[in-house]
Amino acid sequence: MKDNYRDLRVAVLGGGTVGAQVAHRLLEGAAELGSRSGAGLSLIGVAVRDLTAERSAPLPSELLTTDAHSLILQADIVVELMGGIEPARTLILEALGSGADVVTANKALLAEHGPELFDAAARVGAQLYYEAAVAAAIPIIRPLRDSLAGDRVTKIMGIVNGTTNFILDQMDSKGLSFDAALAEATALGYAEADPTADIEGFDAAQKACILSSLAFHTAVPLEDVYREGITAVSAEQIEAAKKSGHVIKLLAICERSFDTATGREGVSTRVHPTLIPRSHPLAAAHGANNAVYVDAEAAGPLMFYGAGAGGAETASAVLGDVVSAARRHVAGGPGVGESTHADLPSIPLDHVASRLNISLVVKDQPGVLAAIARVFSDHDVSVETLHQSASGEGASGSETATLVIQTHSALEARGRETVDALAANPVVVGVTNVLRVEG
Ligand code: NAP
Repeated sequence: MKDNYRDLRVAVLGGGTVGAQVAHRLLEGAAELGSRSGAGLSLIGVAVRDLTAERSAPLPSELLTTDAHSLILQADIVVELMGGIEPARTLILEALGSGADVVTANKALLAEHGPELFDAAARVGAQLYYEAAVAAAIPIIRPLRDSLAGDRVTKIMGIVNGTTNFILDQMDSKGLSFDAALAEATALGYAEADPTADIEGFDAAQKACILSSLAFHTAVPLEDVYREGITAVSAEQIEAAKKSGHVIKLLAICERSFDTATGREGVSTRVHPTLIPRSHPLAAAHGANNAVYVDAEAAGPLMFYGAGAGGAETASAVLGDVVSAARRHVAGGPGVGESTHADLPSIPLDHVASRLNISLVVKDQPGVLAAIARVFSDHDVSVETLHQSASGEGASGSETATLVIQTHSALEARGRETVDALAANPVVVGVTNVLRVEG
């Protein structure tokens, strides 16, 4: 840690949506933030690429610089809000190497290079804060790291991507198709010109990786996170979910359980569209909001809800970290490293137990239900509920019926084999919908 504990110099890297808000609020609220920190907080500069670009909040031009390296060397606290992997990674390593504490909102960088950055911080006794990296304004990192440090988290289910929640919510509330809902998200600025990272679940997978690592005291590699996006979710699936009292959400699920193949305790981290009852607390997360549901052994279920994006909203979490960093400078002592003591293995998806909701169109003739039941029992998957709805006419002119079957918890691999066997069975006209169920 650097010498001057009482008048702390803060450098902000990035003056975009979040960076401009953070810098502006640091200038406007310096006295109040200083009182809360027990230290003076001076913004010494904001590193950007283009000195002439328009900023979303007023910033004195003399604070802007394109020389991030020089800025870092003068700072006690470095706030990285550039995004992306490079040069953010190198600059954070430089900042930590110089003894500065670092605050970042960069989920992509933490998911890919978290262990390297945390090791670098631990080596010099500096601290790396990242409250804004998951669910922006919602306090979730500090509760998991500090408030629940005396408990044992068993499961987290999070709506951690506002764009996909907005799209699914529009499909649910207005009956829109996926394409129409995406177009609306784009028009309103909730989706980027290239929405791939959001709609294919990459962004949620990065956040799931961060949450799982933190909650289960284990460095979970990003490549161990199973990921499915929402591009295949159809208006028909949304309508069927509604009829059965469910809603479809893209969930990041982090679970501590046992690998059914090895019997060893491990961590399952997965992102996929999920059917949840409309009465579940997560079903109440509408629009672009985020929500994180945490289950802990002693605390029981806890729910965190709020804005998962936005310049001012994200700045709130970033500034909270700046105050924490300043307090640590005042108090002194080494930074507290990330706890990876549990070092649990990742559980492959096939060894995880899931409940499935399967819709299929079948021939409406005697013996069909017995044939379907046999497919389930052959694969060791037991049926929890079965609903049959009105008959129609299939392509061949014969009568058909729709079955919606919900299974009990069964191995993912068995569930997939069951669906394949159903699709190949002569009494089945087609499998129209398969979704995992939670809650
Ligand atoms: P942004 O609007 O794209 O801003 C990025 C800023 O970094 C810009 O000011 C840009 O400079 C600067 N920059 C980029 N590369 C640079 C380089 N090589 N050298 C100097 N400056 C460089 O991004 P943002 O939305 O504020 O996001 C920042 C971080 O917060 C990201 O990690 C993001 O994932 C995270 N985050 C954002 C939100 C949100 O709602 N936006 C929410 C949670 C977390 P110019 O302005 O000159 O181009």
